[in-house]
Amino acid sequence: MKYLLVLIVVGVALAWLSIGRRRHIGGRGGRGDAPRARHDKPARGGPPAPMIACVHCGVHLPQTEALFDAAGRPFCSEAHCLAGPR
Ligand SMILES: [Zn+2]
Repeated sequence: MKYLLVLIVVGVALAWLSIGRRRHIGGRGGRGDAPRARHDKPARGGPPAPMIACVHCGVHLPQTEALFDAAGRPFCSEAHCLAGPR
């Protein structure tokens, strides 16, 4: 009977600790990582890359990530490059 009580207490304590840790990790991650990620991107690349619009769907993307066809028209993806301008 004693062991059962000890097991229940230990189980509840472990469950409580794991919930507490999850909350802590989530809170720290949300506060710490998200702003860092936002601030790191412009710092890593220096000045922000110029944005251009895909001539097929109109989505804007950095010029460095765009695909260009033979005529030099920008596309967001290979599929849209193959589909051509709309
Ligand atoms: Zn597109």
